[in-house]
Amino acid sequence: MTDVPEIPVGPGPAAETELEAPDILDRSRHRISRRDIDPDCLKVLYRLNGHGFIAYLVGGAVRDLMLGRRPADFDVGTNAHPNQIKKLFRNAFLIGRRFRLAHVRFQGGKVIEVSTFRRKPDEEELAAEREEAAARAVEPAEAAPPDGAGETDGRPDQTAGSEGEAAPEEAGGGTAGPRPGRLPLKPIAYGTPREDAFRRDLTINALFYDIATFSVIDYVGGLEDLAAGRIRIIGDPDVSYAEDPVRIWRVLRHASRLGFGIEERTAEAIARHVHRLDSCSGARLYEELNKDMKSGSIRPFIQACRAHGVLPHVLGNIGEIYQASDNAFERLTFLLGALDASIGSGGAPPPEVAYGLLLWPWAEPLLAAIRGDKPKVLYDAFRGVGAAATVPKALLLETVHTLAIVDQMLRALADGQMRWALKERPHYPEASRIASLLVEGAFGTCEDPFSVIYRNRFGARPRSKPHRHRRRRKSVPPPPPAD
Ligand code: ATP
Ligand code: MG
Repeated sequence: MTDVPEIPVGPGPAAETELEAPDILDRSRHRISRRDIDPDCLKVLYRLNGHGFIAYLVGGAVRDLMLGRRPADFDVGTNAHPNQIKKLFRNAFLIGRRFRLAHVRFQGGKVIEVSTFRRKPDEEELAAEREEAAARAVEPAEAAPPDGAGETDGRPDQTAGSEGEAAPEEAGGGTAGPRPGRLPLKPIAYGTPREDAFRRDLTINALFYDIATFSVIDYVGGLEDLAAGRIRIIGDPDVSYAEDPVRIWRVLRHASRLGFGIEERTAEAIARHVHRLDSCSGARLYEELNKDMKSGSIRPFIQACRAHGVLPHVLGNIGEIYQASDNAFERLTFLLGALDASIGSGGAPPPEVAYGLLLWPWAEPLLAAIRGDKPKVLYDAFRGVGAAATVPKALLLETVHTLAIVDQMLRALADGQMRWALKERPHYPEASRIASLLVEGAFGTCEDPFSVIYRNRFGARPRSKPHRHRRRRKSVPPPPPAD
């Protein structure tokens, strides 16, 4: 057995015992069953606990299990330090520069994230953390090997036993040291479980499930908020949003996803801080947007964003149009509702379709007005709207090419003159799906729903746009020579 390490306690509450005791629900008073916890996550929890460490299931997984929902991922919190975690799991990869997290990798590319309890960071730490989150959004899991490589069966890594505690400069557990231009490293600010609960965003996201006692531990009033269906920022919302404006996004995400109300102070403070999203890392905002695009609840999320004036701060001028025009917004919510339904029934469309739907009410009038190279003009127009979220170039290109084909399809449905050579274009199938939604109100289920719609409208044999033949001039006999 490994000794339980001493956890350095940062500034703030001095001793756990002087503090208000957490609410503890023993196993008979909550609905979380180990059967609902990912078996690989259970292995991680048991292994840590078996070696004398505190091991909690933390974050969104506890929230979701308490609500009877299936968690998206299972995260673990512990008092073991990153290098102690690494010693226990052969396939733990340390990521991050300062607040190193361990990613324990299992078969099929599954990752269980294990993090050491932390306290609330100070200003300088926050700046470094924001930089780190942005860097991770650009280059995820620096230290991890390619998918599936080096999977673990969850047994301890005997070979790693001699490894010493890495110096902060080595942070990243195998990643390169700090890069030029990055902030210098400070000692790591680990904390107690209580401090770890208070550094989180929402009360319902700060519950712990203790594998040693099978009880749920609540330091922040999350159980009460869960029962009341309420989203509440931990601590003062003004301070919390100023520390990390992405929490505004997270409030709206969880409220719309769970159908919860937003506690008054939490809601009220959004207007005072929403402008801060403009200066967040574009890569991080794109990562957040992407999560919602895939969540199956992008429609209620976008509605919540509009209700709180957030859209212009994410999508620039496009957001301003959606914020100001009821008509454009109605079209948008219809399209995003179809996207959600498609994801809900297990048929998530490719990203260029999802982003195509997000952009369509903005792009449609532009495409109609563009003469010449429509994808290029649309691409440049998007780059000019001042969106805070940085949509990657490749995805944006695929999206504008898809939408340009949709535009041609709609015009062909109006004038019966389809250029079938379009079928050869790489994004024809995606455009065909979007066109079917726009025309019929639902995604067509066959391979090429657009051509079915076109055939039904213009007859069995699709009429191609007639090639323009040069009219042969009738040979006019030369006038008779004048006498
Ligand atoms: P999801 O179901 O989307 O995964 P989640 O709440 O688990 O929801 P994650 O992004 O996986 O969200 O984050 C895990 C946990 O980390 C959260 O539950 C929360 O406790 C904490 N957390 C995440 N982002 C922040 C943040 N910006 N500020 C403070 N705590 C955060
Ligand atoms: Mg999660």
